[in-house]
Amino acid sequence: MPFRDEMISVEEALEKVLSYIDVLDPEEKPILQCMGQVLAQDVYASFNIPPMDNAAMDGYAVRAQDTKDASPSSPRYLLVIEEVAAGSLPSKEVVPGTAVRIMTGAPLPPGADAVVPFEDTDEVNRKALGGDLSQIGIMCEAKRGANIRRHGEDIAQGELVLRKGTVLRPQEIGVLASLGRSTAPVIRRPRIAILATGDELLDVGQPLTLGKIYDSNTYTIAAEVIRYGGIPLILGIGRDSVESLSRKIEQGLDADMLITSGGVSKGDYDMVKDVLAQYGEIGFWTVRMKPGKPLAFGTIRKVIGGRERQVPHLGLPGNPVSAMITFEQFARPAILKMMGKKSWTKPTIRATIEDEIANSDGRRIFARVVVTKRGEQYYAKLTGPQGSGILTSMTKANGLAIVPETVKGVKPGDVVEVQMLDWEQE
Ligand code: AMP
Ligand code: MG
Repeated sequence: MPFRDEMISVEEALEKVLSYIDVLDPEEKPILQCMGQVLAQDVYASFNIPPMDNAAMDGYAVRAQDTKDASPSSPRYLLVIEEVAAGSLPSKEVVPGTAVRIMTGAPLPPGADAVVPFEDTDEVNRKALGGDLSQIGIMCEAKRGANIRRHGEDIAQGELVLRKGTVLRPQEIGVLASLGRSTAPVIRRPRIAILATGDELLDVGQPLTLGKIYDSNTYTIAAEVIRYGGIPLILGIGRDSVESLSRKIEQGLDADMLITSGGVSKGDYDMVKDVLAQYGEIGFWTVRMKPGKPLAFGTIRKVIGGRERQVPHLGLPGNPVSAMITFEQFARPAILKMMGKKSWTKPTIRATIEDEIANSDGRRIFARVVVTKRGEQYYAKLTGPQGSGILTSMTKANGLAIVPETVKGVKPGDVVEVQMLDWEQE
């Protein structure tokens, strides 16, 4: 890939990035570690759920015909032959004139075809009068099948329960458990190597010295990687020299993707692109977006066990807000694609903008806004100064208002599309 310094749209850049990204291999792991991962095989049921007919309420298992015409003034009296709790098995058959006292979830005894809940019997009165429960008065006619959960009514034996490609949420994890599965086959999580670059950077925990700033990009990027289901591999800080960057990048090449920040603009010390041009193939683009240009993307060749691998490398801008916003637009979809997901669009809403935003140079602006709902309408207000170094603008924002590259700006009252960073209405 030769050097190209062309101006491309956000969509073109994303398409190019994703064209180098493959879905990763499946792995079998404990179900609780699979949250948010994509199922790699269809899951079938090898037995019925529930496995047997059972009581849906605490009460008496009866033959429905024995309750015919029963009412509070004229109860039908049945002989109680047994009591079954959930987890134990009935040993007797319900024959005409008999009933079995039964708890929710306990298997229905043979012969019974309905469960009468306690409140439709005279049990409370009997208990008040000394507790003779050898007999029970049924005060209500029961229909056949009443308060019974049929075997297989949730899942039938042989049924396709969860389809390959399903993203596992708590309910799917629960269904896997109800099938007795302790592990599941899922597309593995991508390992993402993260490298900050810059002579001015200090790692957190070090004393602050004159001329230096703390490296925040490593931490925002690593946190984003975790948030979207990947595993961050922190390489630390590469200095602005070809040797330092080469050494660090080498350490990141057994990852599934390398994300660097900084060193891709046009300053004297912006070496990332030089190093990458040496190591692999790199496309160097100016994306028509603000904040966020420039962006580097390419692949680095790495020979592992005699086999050549191409490690995708995304070079984000150094400015903390630009790094985050380009991560959202390009790294997040790449991670989700690797995980086998099919959708990576952020939820968007339409909101009335409350501030003026000028668009002087025909780029797509991602403005940090606070979205609120008043009545049925969403409103978006700028978080304050929009400099790409002002990381606290991201802490205040819950969305990114999009000013298209085709307009000269927006005015208060205009309707804009807002990409929601967080979609929490709970
Ligand atoms: P660069 O793209 O390397 O020229 O960086 C642009 C701006 O982002 C400079 O002001 C850098 O100091 C700042 N910057 C670069 N990397 C980081 C980082 N990891 N954490 C915080 N700020 C950074
Ligand atoms: Mg730099």
